[in-house]
Amino acid sequence: MSISIVIVGSGPSGFYVAEALIKSEADVTIDIIDRLPTPYGLIRGGVAPDHQSTKRVTRAYERTALNEKVRYYGNVELGRDISLDELRATYDAVVLTIGMPGDSKLMVRGEEKTGVIGSAAFVGWYNGHPDFSRLAPDLNSKNVVVIGNGNVAVDIARVLVKTPKEMTEADLPQHVSNAIQASPITDVYMVGRRGPVEAKFTNVELREMGNLENAAAIVDPSDLPEEVTGDWSNRDRRLRERNLESLKGFAAETRDGKRKAVHFTFYAKPVEILGDEKVTGIRLEKTTVIDGRAQGTGEFWDIECSLVIPAIGYALEPVQDIPFDENTGTIRNVDGRVEEGVYVAGWAKRGPTGVIGTNKPDGKAAAEQILEDIGSGTKPGRDSFEARLKSREVRWIDFAAWQQIDAAEIANAPTGSPREKFVTTEDMLSLLSNSSS
Ligand SMILES: Cc1cc2nc3c(=O)[nH]c(=O)nc-3n(C[C@H](O)[C@H](O)[C@H](O)COP(=O)(O)OP(=O)(O)OC[C@H]3O[C@@H](n4cnc5c(N)ncnc54)[C@H](O)[C@@H]3O)c2cc1C
Repeated sequence: MSISIVIVGSGPSGFYVAEALIKSEADVTIDIIDRLPTPYGLIRGGVAPDHQSTKRVTRAYERTALNEKVRYYGNVELGRDISLDELRATYDAVVLTIGMPGDSKLMVRGEEKTGVIGSAAFVGWYNGHPDFSRLAPDLNSKNVVVIGNGNVAVDIARVLVKTPKEMTEADLPQHVSNAIQASPITDVYMVGRRGPVEAKFTNVELREMGNLENAAAIVDPSDLPEEVTGDWSNRDRRLRERNLESLKGFAAETRDGKRKAVHFTFYAKPVEILGDEKVTGIRLEKTTVIDGRAQGTGEFWDIECSLVIPAIGYALEPVQDIPFDENTGTIRNVDGRVEEGVYVAGWAKRGPTGVIGTNKPDGKAAAEQILEDIGSGTKPGRDSFEARLKSREVRWIDFAAWQQIDAAEIANAPTGSPREKFVTTEDMLSLLSNSSS
């Protein structure tokens, strides 16, 4: 009998597990479930809307989804519609590729105030993720503070300051685009505890900030060292040297007639979010880096703003009966094995690091482990799974239904943009109901 495998989560790591299983030519059936109707995880809901070329990787995932061994079940959530125990009883192998959907905490006084919105939520909002479609962040502010010195912080700053023309080819939902363009935002402060050498930007993303139509990239030249020092691998040193070069270019730039600016604010530690219930500003403390760690100097200053976006990392909330590792914040596992018949790959295994391609070897490893551990299938698999969903009246979205949603989004696209996203599950389901009636 075929080995029946269910992959929970249709982001890159889920698709890389499926791809590796197909390539192995083993006798397998592969079901991929996702809590959202739409597939592709952070490729749809995280990768920046103006970086469409990065999103093209989904074409390969689409080929995988259309393989005869694979079925897609969107709008099915582990923990809501089905439990891990039920999946284990139904499938020979369960692979958890659920990513890290939540925000890491800032751990700063006042972070519960209205107007502190973590990057998972904010990015989800501008990418039309149904969980955040009603977020309505208060953009009525001249200044926005983004905390973090990585690519996600850069993405957020860029999306807030690009002109409508620069965003023409993006798939920002119309209501988000209108809200950003109508806002008085002129200055985005990107705040990092440590210095430019420690920052985690990749150079392509950083360089792009120096070439924006109506936004200057501004750095205090006194924050930039002459050269990169410290104990880095050759690869890391080269990246840091390139970043330092780019930042030196920004330091020479003044506002130069541009209406907006992104301020790279290094050596600054958030110490308090100001305001009563709503954010009115943030208090920062100047730092100095000693042995790679940022230490406060006792010099403080405030930035007035109504929106603070921590982009400092991601977290996985414990899901129902899934073993959780408190120390790493990931699903507890030994090299990807969770417990008998249960595997993990991608961010849920490694934590929120690396690029899309980093998930590929992970997916391959999970596929190899499954085929090593399980000789042939003994569990009922797909039919039993579908019967259970039907008995619970779970309305799942198969891949053909997703393709209908996809086609409708493409058909609704404003000129130049690849698509106008549906941002609620209800809208997607009613599209499907209307087209089948
Ligand atoms: C804002 C942002 C921008 C990024 N930009 C880039 C970039 O430009 N280039 C690049 O190379 N990398 C980028 N990355 C990194 C890249 O997106 C990740 O490496 C990759 O998406 C991780 O894949 P994953 O499959 O582990 O998780 P995810 O992509 O998060 O996929 C997890 C999937 O599991 C589903 N799920 C979660 N819980 C459940 C449940 N209980 N039941 C069913 N399904 C569930 C989710 O809906 C989701 O579809 C970015 C990341 C972020 C956050």
